[in-house]
Amino acid sequence: MAGDGKKAHLIFLGPPGSGKGTQSEFVCKALGIPQISTGDMLRAAVAAGSELGQKVESIMNSGALVSDELIAEVVKDRLVQADAQEGFLLDGYPRTGPQAETLSGILEESGIELDHVVLIDVPEEELVARAVARGRDDDKEEVVRERQRVYHEKTAPLIDYYRAQGLIREIDGNRPIEDVTAALMEAIGA
Ligand code: AMP
Repeated sequence: MAGDGKKAHLIFLGPPGSGKGTQSEFVCKALGIPQISTGDMLRAAVAAGSELGQKVESIMNSGALVSDELIAEVVKDRLVQADAQEGFLLDGYPRTGPQAETLSGILEESGIELDHVVLIDVPEEELVARAVARGRDDDKEEVVRERQRVYHEKTAPLIDYYRAQGLIREIDGNRPIEDVTAALMEAIGA
């Protein structure tokens, strides 16, 4: 990737509140690749009051995941856009086994190989404290706990899926933001 003129294809995995979004933003700026955050895209749809937004608003507010079929459409539409043709960082996708399978199919068809799957690790109590402190609408403690539960049930199994492919780069996210950034830039060889 870096050095041979090719841009990186990355996935960022980690529980809600792990700092994944913040770190993704930094890495995308540093590497010149688009940050593809399904959460941001869905929030934008809700804010715009689009058909998609109306479908997903209450699901998002409950802490549950929107359906794999809906999210597949969102991601397929995004990945064909011009800025994603040379590299991208997926932030918050895939989040379930079927989503990971769908993504593998999309990548295979496009002849794209993932470079790294970054996993940012943070202990659960720290995550809940961070989310409550942030005080967003969907960050009520009950919803926060539900989002953690969903992460463990549906998303955490993807760690083994990508570990089997030799792609997991595990980063300790329970330390100052700059230290996390430094560790992960090193882990992805950037
Ligand atoms: P996030 O900002 O990534 O935590 O996403 C916020 C919410 O959007 C999640 O709690 C889900 O309801 C929904 N969402 C985002 N990405 C996905 C995804 N890949 N699959 C299903 N639901 C998603």
